[in-house]
Amino acid sequence: MSTILVTGGSGFIAAHSILQLLGQGHAVRTTVRNLAREPEVRAMLKAGGAADPGPRLSFFAADLTADKGWAEAAEGCDYALHVASPFPAGLPKDENELIVPARDGALRVLRAARDAGVKRVVMTSSFAAIGYGHPVRKQPFDETDWTNLDGDDLSPYTKSKTIAERAAWDFIAREGGALELSVVNPVGVLGPVLGPDFSTSIQIVKGLIDGSVPAMPKLSFGLVDVRDVADLHIRAMTDPAAKGERFLAIAGDYVWMRDIAKLLKARLGKAAARVPTRQLPNWLVFIAAMRMPELKLVLPELGKEKHATGEKAIRLLGWQPRSWEQSAVDTAESLARLDA
Ligand code: NAP
Repeated sequence: MSTILVTGGSGFIAAHSILQLLGQGHAVRTTVRNLAREPEVRAMLKAGGAADPGPRLSFFAADLTADKGWAEAAEGCDYALHVASPFPAGLPKDENELIVPARDGALRVLRAARDAGVKRVVMTSSFAAIGYGHPVRKQPFDETDWTNLDGDDLSPYTKSKTIAERAAWDFIAREGGALELSVVNPVGVLGPVLGPDFSTSIQIVKGLIDGSVPAMPKLSFGLVDVRDVADLHIRAMTDPAAKGERFLAIAGDYVWMRDIAKLLKARLGKAAARVPTRQLPNWLVFIAAMRMPELKLVLPELGKEKHATGEKAIRLLGWQPRSWEQSAVDTAESLARLDA
């Protein structure tokens, strides 16, 4: 069994990754910005069905914006999953609030991993580093695509993920030594939430169920389940075929928000009473965005079809993602259990 560093243990994807690693008998060293969150993370793992891991799980304080703590956390680790990165729901005042921790944090983790003799780091990048800044096209996006940083209307988050992943590959090429890198690029991640502080992507389902999205913009998303994203990280960690590769994580192809709403209506009964059925014309979203700045983020994506494929992970790593429908229903049911 191995010892694995998982950065940002308080996060949605990280907590599910820790659950699976512990379930497979590994030891996990995880970082949080504030050690006061340790009981919360342990409670999330318990909610996810983990037995008490005892000394197989340990916590270290480390922030992506500072050097302190990373060397200690990486000590004695065989592998690392670098999952932590800022993923806020709204727009920051300055894009560097996201770009700097994403890029410099990834470099801190890679440096600490290399110096500790870690064999491979699996970094959580994003479809944000693949599919933005391009003209609309029919051809599916895959791992050979990179977001065009000179493209129009890139969000600070999109820039942060693209710049951080580019910096990670450059680091490995220039000064990585024996350290290997694999990257997972998920689309929107759904699936069972384990605690009340859930990821921004859960809003896709939560906003439809709680009525805060009264009518739908014509938006499409790729979706994938958090359990399958965690599983893909773990496959990419040890499979020789994953060395030096990126893996786009998507279940099937993109779906329209309207299809997600229809599914929730059909499957959730009364709990879906507030799920909207109306789709907003694009011009109305443009007008609404004049009053609601957060809507500006979606304007460039209105009506765009973004085909993408996870075929590489399926072919090379034997990955088998569950359907987006299952994932969306499980998300909604977990929110209901939390009464959120
Ligand atoms: P999440 O639940 O919000 O987790 C984000 C994690 O990053 C939290 O543990 C957070 O710690 C940590 N973090 C943020 N800023 C930090 C800093 N300055 N120093 C140390 N830790 C910091 O979101 P998630 O969905 O699990 O996202 C995890 C990763 O997946 C991110 O890299 C994100 O970009 C990527 N991703 C997510 C999706 C998605 O749809 N969810 C899709 C593609 C890629 P605190 O608890 O202390 O804030």
